[in-house]
Amino acid sequence: MIKVLSSLGNDHDLRLVILAVAVCLGACLTAFRLYSRMTGARGLVRGAWLLLAALVAGCGVWATHFLGLLAYDPGLPTGFSSTGTIASLMISVAFMGGGFFASIPVDDERSNQIAGGMLIGLGVAGMHYSGMSAFVTEGRIEWEPATVAASIITGIVGATLSLMVIGQGKGLVKLVAAAGLLGAGVLAMHFIGMAAITIVPDPLVEVPESMMSVGVMTFAVASITGLIILGGLGAMLIESQTTRSALERIRTLANAAYEGIVVIQNGRINDANSAFCELAGAPLEDLVGLSLLDDILTFDDPLQSPDERREAHLQPLTDKISIPVEVFSRLMDDGARIETSGLTVLAIRDLRERRSAEDKIRYLAEHDGLTGLPNRNALQVKLAAAIERVEASGETLALICVDLDHFKEANDLHGHLAGDSVLREAARRLQGSISAPSFAARLGGDEFVVVQITDQDQPSAAAELAGELLDILRVPGQFEGQELVMGASLGVSLYPDDGRTREALLANADMALYRAKESGRGAYRFFKREMDESIRERRTMARELRQAIIDEHLIVHYQPLARASDGEVCGFEALVRWKHPVRGMIPPLDFIPVAEESGLIGPLGEWVLRRACADAAAWDKPLRIAVNLSPLQLNQPALPTLVHEVLIQTGLSPARLELEITESALFKDYQRALDNLRRLKALGVRIAMDDFGTGFSSLSTLQSFPFDKIKVDKSFVENIHRDERATVIVRAVLGLGRSLNIPVVAEGVETEEQRQFLRDEDCAELQGYAIGRPAPVETLGAWTNNDLVIAALEVVDEVRPVLRRKRRA
Ligand code: C2E
Ligand code: CA
Ligand code: CA
Repeated sequence: MIKVLSSLGNDHDLRLVILAVAVCLGACLTAFRLYSRMTGARGLVRGAWLLLAALVAGCGVWATHFLGLLAYDPGLPTGFSSTGTIASLMISVAFMGGGFFASIPVDDERSNQIAGGMLIGLGVAGMHYSGMSAFVTEGRIEWEPATVAASIITGIVGATLSLMVIGQGKGLVKLVAAAGLLGAGVLAMHFIGMAAITIVPDPLVEVPESMMSVGVMTFAVASITGLIILGGLGAMLIESQTTRSALERIRTLANAAYEGIVVIQNGRINDANSAFCELAGAPLEDLVGLSLLDDILTFDDPLQSPDERREAHLQPLTDKISIPVEVFSRLMDDGARIETSGLTVLAIRDLRERRSAEDKIRYLAEHDGLTGLPNRNALQVKLAAAIERVEASGETLALICVDLDHFKEANDLHGHLAGDSVLREAARRLQGSISAPSFAARLGGDEFVVVQITDQDQPSAAAELAGELLDILRVPGQFEGQELVMGASLGVSLYPDDGRTREALLANADMALYRAKESGRGAYRFFKREMDESIRERRTMARELRQAIIDEHLIVHYQPLARASDGEVCGFEALVRWKHPVRGMIPPLDFIPVAEESGLIGPLGEWVLRRACADAAAWDKPLRIAVNLSPLQLNQPALPTLVHEVLIQTGLSPARLELEITESALFKDYQRALDNLRRLKALGVRIAMDDFGTGFSSLSTLQSFPFDKIKVDKSFVENIHRDERATVIVRAVLGLGRSLNIPVVAEGVETEEQRQFLRDEDCAELQGYAIGRPAPVETLGAWTNNDLVIAALEVVDEVRPVLRRKRRA
């Protein structure tokens, strides 16, 4: 060390030494900048950067060496051999290139800095000592091997360390450190190498004329150094210029982007496009330097990995509203450039439009278009949430199924617009009579659900609400100046007593509703366990009945009616039966009520009417055919049209058709029923009052409409002679008929005694087992075929089998 320092102090021109140091460090710094560019580039471009780095480093080190030599003054004439000088330059450049190349990271994994460092170190030493061989002076140069070795090791260590530093990453500090280490290695190598020599003056040694003089050498070194450094700087200038214009292009592109693009460095805004500035509500100057996460952006889920698409809220600087956004981030640092190190680019997409579209779609999917109430799907979700809520809070929950009583009427009578207005009005009233967290929903048709969530006790709270709902729904609605009848039936189920699941609660409230409707509508019922079984059965039956009508599993039996005076059969009553594939023949009393409840009575009644009229039209004799009408059928405005159509289609004379109605049919909607009866009668059809005596049997009923027949109920007939009151009633009805001039029929005549009594009392017609049981149409031939044929057949005995075959056919 002392030797090196004394060599420096005594034998060197310090000004040139300082110049050598400056050239060396400048070259190293430039070379490493080029080196950085090289590692970031690929292919040919990388080769070009490598060549430049090698040239700059190699020439720089070479120039350092020769400046050092020029600074060295042994006090004797000196010169340089041109071959050695040129060879040392080539060695320097070649080894620098080889060393840089060897140190390039392979696959971004382990880089080979030690190999690179060795090469560079050896190159520096090779350059030094070959350069020294070109140094000629008037004396003998003596070498000190240990110092020579130390110089070589120093060079290798410096070069290796510098490569290790630059290999660790980018940044100005690392660049300067690496350049400093290499420069220090090179300088140390040189000056330790110089300290290793001793020149022993020898007058025999001459510096040849052909040698380059110190002046020429100085000029050569200075120009090469200048050129190299200028070349390196120029290359970088051009490159940064292209980078800048590329950045300019990128900026133009970025500004054209719809999405906000923001570049951050260490969390602070570095740059942004105009879309981002617009989102953030401030010009770029105001945004640069702000902390993106502290001042502008809040991630919805801060724990999510930053690589993924993340949702966040953007808080504009000037606005109160927060904008939902979607953020994609990418680290821009590709390891190639110092300018981009630590930069992250975030693309920020405004989600407001998408959110509002999504909201709209969700609203449509979850709400009923007509009333705006949550629909069936939404009810499922809301009900599940409600159950969870009361489970946790200890509140109570009641589910109320609401069915409008007069919706179909409004629809049929005043049209769909009126029906819609009834539904909207009902929804409005339901909504108005509850408050959150309770809610209402529409299941479809005229069915609604109200879910009551309250901290009051049950069932009193539900009973109170149900009562209120009935009251408000009872108030008539208005449509185009007309008054629309409203009203509802309600079924209530309670959580958890009547069901722990949504399905159970809904099904049980629905059953209770069924009961409410059955009990005459306009009422509410709480679910009771017993309802379960019988209603389930009726539901099954309704389902099967619907199919039976389609599959024609229904058949019509005919029961004869005979004139009391002479016993002549004058007509038949059509009585429907259901031939159930499993349960066998089901009597009408078992399934007619189900058909009425489930709305199947319409199609069922129509089917019976068509069948009966068609069968009767095929009879030889013009006998009357009686068809029973359910009260619900009589209230259908389309009934007269249907009957008319069936008569035309079957060709049955209207006078032969008799429609049997019960008194209760008139109580539903008196005016409508009466209207229908008049229109039917206008067709020429006869109307009979069935089951007389069981209902109100008020005289006014009989007077309100000109019935063609009164049928005394069989419960009285079967008690003739057994029960005095029954006998009196039958007599009274017969008297009533006489005074009103309406013929009376007695049903359920089973005995000869009853038959005799009725004939004596002047009853017009008889019906019952004593006359004939209800039977399939194929068995009626004896009554319906022409007397002539029957008489003839009865005479010609042999023909009977033929007749039987004919009847069967
Ligand atoms: P209904 O109109 O009073 O019919 C007479 C019922 O009495 C029939 O019962 C018949 O089989 C039965 N019957 C007839 N003679 C006697 C007798 O001497 N003794 C006894 N004990 N019973 C007798 P069915 O067929 O079971 O019909 C029951 C009810 O079902 C009918 O009562 C009627 O109200 C209803 N019904 C039958 N078919 C239809 C239909 O097509 N449409 C409608 N809406 N109702 C129908
Ligand atoms: Ca009847
Ligand atoms: Ca009857």
